[in-house]
Amino acid sequence: MLIDTHAHLDEQTFDVDREEVLQRAADAGVERILTIGINVATSRAAVELAEQYEMLSAVVGIQPNYVHDVQPGDWEVIEELVTHPQVVGIGETGLDRYWDYAPIDLQREYFDRHLDLSRRVNKPFVVHCREAEADVVEQLRRASDVGSLNGVMHSFCGDADVAEACLEMGMHISFAGMVTYKKSDALRAVAARVPHDRLLVETDAPYLSPVPLRGKRNEPANVTHTAKCVAQQTGLSLERLSAITTANARNLFLLP
Ligand SMILES: [Zn+2]
Repeated sequence: MLIDTHAHLDEQTFDVDREEVLQRAADAGVERILTIGINVATSRAAVELAEQYEMLSAVVGIQPNYVHDVQPGDWEVIEELVTHPQVVGIGETGLDRYWDYAPIDLQREYFDRHLDLSRRVNKPFVVHCREAEADVVEQLRRASDVGSLNGVMHSFCGDADVAEACLEMGMHISFAGMVTYKKSDALRAVAARVPHDRLLVETDAPYLSPVPLRGKRNEPANVTHTAKCVAQQTGLSLERLSAITTANARNLFLLP
């Protein structure tokens, strides 16, 4: 059994075959998928999907590349959606210096809002970090002054120091398809050193297809390839790694 802790199943690319995608995931041993919002519309869509399909849970928030598009009242909608029983986390949030769509100060402000909300409603947060590792660690450190952090670094691609800093603050580390890429030796070395009780796996579907499916549309069934790769790094069997990461996801997101 496996849990895909990060996918975007509301995306248009899945409109043609969403039920088949879910069936293929179930056939591959994926028992639950977290579908993640990136703004108000997609957060609403994530909640609707989680109401519709038993194997889905939702995470709601405003992704850093969309914070400059926020309309009056949007944040209040997120605050309301988080109370929905099918919503198991807050995000994705964080910082992104790669796309540089939104001013970094506005990204920081929303990152803090998500961290506050996560603490208030006692649901974990999901961090997106792209070319902003130092800034993310710094902001997490300030948040961790109040207490240990209840969250996950999604699709982790930082170095060993960043991983260590996040682990020290209580964070989980989630690996996506990138860890399977040929050039990702350093990332695989990081995966090998993450304590087993903090490890998670995900697809980030429809993006980041793992080897051997690189370049194709990604879907939750493919989390098995990433799990296999992480299992090899950690010296665990695929069965053991699957059981461990599934238990971790259940404990962190308080999943059914
Ligand atoms: Zn995502």
